[in-house]
Amino acid sequence: MSALVGIDVGGTAIKGGAVSTGGEIITRREIPSGIDEGPEAVVERLAGLARELGAVDALGLGVPGLLDRERGVVLSSPNLRPLDDFPLRDELARRLAIESGNVRIENDANVAAIGEHWLGGARGESHVLLVTLGTGVGGGLILGGRLFLGEGGGGEVGHTVVDAAGPLCGCGQHGCLEVLASATAARRRAREAGLTEDLEELAAAARAAPGAERDLLRAVGGDLGRGLGTVVTLLDLRCFLIGGGFGRALDVLRAGVAEGIAERTTGPGRAGLRILCAELGPDAGWIGAARLAC
Ligand SMILES: [Zn+2]
Repeated sequence: MSALVGIDVGGTAIKGGAVSTGGEIITRREIPSGIDEGPEAVVERLAGLARELGAVDALGLGVPGLLDRERGVVLSSPNLRPLDDFPLRDELARRLAIESGNVRIENDANVAAIGEHWLGGARGESHVLLVTLGTGVGGGLILGGRLFLGEGGGGEVGHTVVDAAGPLCGCGQHGCLEVLASATAARRRAREAGLTEDLEELAAAARAAPGAERDLLRAVGGDLGRGLGTVVTLLDLRCFLIGGGFGRALDVLRAGVAEGIAERTTGPGRAGLRILCAELGPDAGWIGAARLAC
């Protein structure tokens, strides 16, 4: 069996690798995105990396932002503006001399969920939501063992409204989970509270002793929990996987998360809830993308 190749395109780095169909990681690579050089240069880099990784007849691609999956086009991506409306899938397929249909393109949070479900912290789970706490809050929903997209944009938990009186979000609503519990939001909240904006330091201080840092992370965790509580009520989901750079602070967010969920749920939905750490870190995206290349 040939290896599966996946690539995760980010605003600053492109990560890729090859995995055996049995789930063994064969190789991984990381190169700068060079997004400012324009779409042609980026697609050249992607093709070069795909060849290096051995993508002879299929490739999976994770891309941040809103996608037109039918046409293989990135409609809008705040971190990859030069790629907006660029026929990424077809241009890549042409350079690799493979069929367009064999280049599978999916949103970055969704490929991360697929990766964690295949080889990471959500292995064996039927129903799980991956929540990625980074620059924004990404969501990837697995239902019945498969990625759930609804009509195409499903799983976007980052833009569920937690506090309608909260800060304005980039999406135009107020108080989305993203403006309350992303890494960016946590830094802003720390700054407003007169605390360090370094989230590693903030988490370390919260772990070390009770105080303002612990209180702040409990409050941020509370907002995350209120967001997840809505999901528990709607879907009776019992397993959440928390990833992204700020997800590493889950140990100090956890008390708040539990309070927030309890506040927004009633009845049996709360029983047996598991809030787990994502396991694959920055590899989740390309591993999930590789899974798409099956
Ligand atoms: Zn929003």
